[in-house]
Amino acid sequence: MIEFINASKTYPNGVKGLKNVTLNIEQGEFVAIIGLSGAGKSTLIRTVNRMHDVTGGQVIVDGIDVNTLKGKELRRFRRKVGMIFQSFNLVTRSTVINNVLASMVPDMPWYRTLLGLYTKEQKIQALEALDKVGILDKAYTRCDQLSGGQQQRVALARTLNQNPSIILADEPVAALDPITAKAVMSDFRRINKEMNISILLNIHHVDLALDYADRVIGIRAGEVVYDGPTKDVTQEVLDLVYNGKPIPTTADEK
Ligand code: ADP
Repeated sequence: MIEFINASKTYPNGVKGLKNVTLNIEQGEFVAIIGLSGAGKSTLIRTVNRMHDVTGGQVIVDGIDVNTLKGKELRRFRRKVGMIFQSFNLVTRSTVINNVLASMVPDMPWYRTLLGLYTKEQKIQALEALDKVGILDKAYTRCDQLSGGQQQRVALARTLNQNPSIILADEPVAALDPITAKAVMSDFRRINKEMNISILLNIHHVDLALDYADRVIGIRAGEVVYDGPTKDVTQEVLDLVYNGKPIPTTADEK
C-alpha cells in the first residue's frame, strides 16, 4: 500500500509542487493521475521512489516511511518500485535483451557486469519478461531498430525483470501515436491484472485514463481535487480538474 499523509513538496525556488496530499493506494490498483501541465502529477509520482523528497508530511510504502531510507535499503526499495519514463531511457545501441538484463546489475558482482556474464537463469528470466510484453521475437534486435511502442515495451520488460510490486509511469505514452498509446496502455492493464502490480501512471490524454484505469486522481495546482472510481468521472469533475480549460484527448492528434 502507498500512503500519502499530508504530503507537500516545495521546490528550492519556492514553487509548491504538492500541497497537503492525503491518499491511500492499495496493492494492485491501477491509478491514472490527470491534470493540466504543471499541476503536480510528475511531482506526486516521483515522491514515491524518492526521485523527489517531500518537504512536508509523509509518503509510506508498505508501512515504511520512504524518507527514512538510506543507502542499501533505499536501493533495495527502488528495485521494488519500477519506473517508466516518456522517453523510454534505453541504451538504444544495445540489444533488447541486454537492456532487460541491465536491470539485474545491482545484484551482480562488478566483474560479471563488466564482462556481460549473465547466467542462463538470468537470460531465461529476461526472455520471459519480453514474452510478457509480446516482443520475445525482438530479443536480439538493437533497440534503435524498434518503433516507439516496441521501445516502451522493452522498458516495461526491463522493469518487470526487477519483480516490482509497484510501477510508476511518468507520461509513458505521451511520445506515442494514439493507436500505439492504446496498445501500450493495454499492456499496463494486463500486467496490472495478471501480476497484481500496483500501477500509478501520469497521463496527458483523458480518454486513455478513462478507458484503462480503475481509479482517477485529478490534480490541480498541487492539490487533489478528485479521487474516485473512473466510472464516476463526470464532465463536471473534468472541468474542475482542468479549471475550465480544454480537456486533452487523443482525438486532438488525429
Ligand atoms: P506535471 O507533471 O503535472 O506537469 P510537475 O509535477 O512537473 O507537473 O510540476 C509541478 C510544479 O512544480 C510546476 O509548477 C513545475 O514548474 C514545478 N517544478 C517541477 N519540477 C521542478 C524543479 N525541479 N524545480 C522547481 N520547480 C519544479
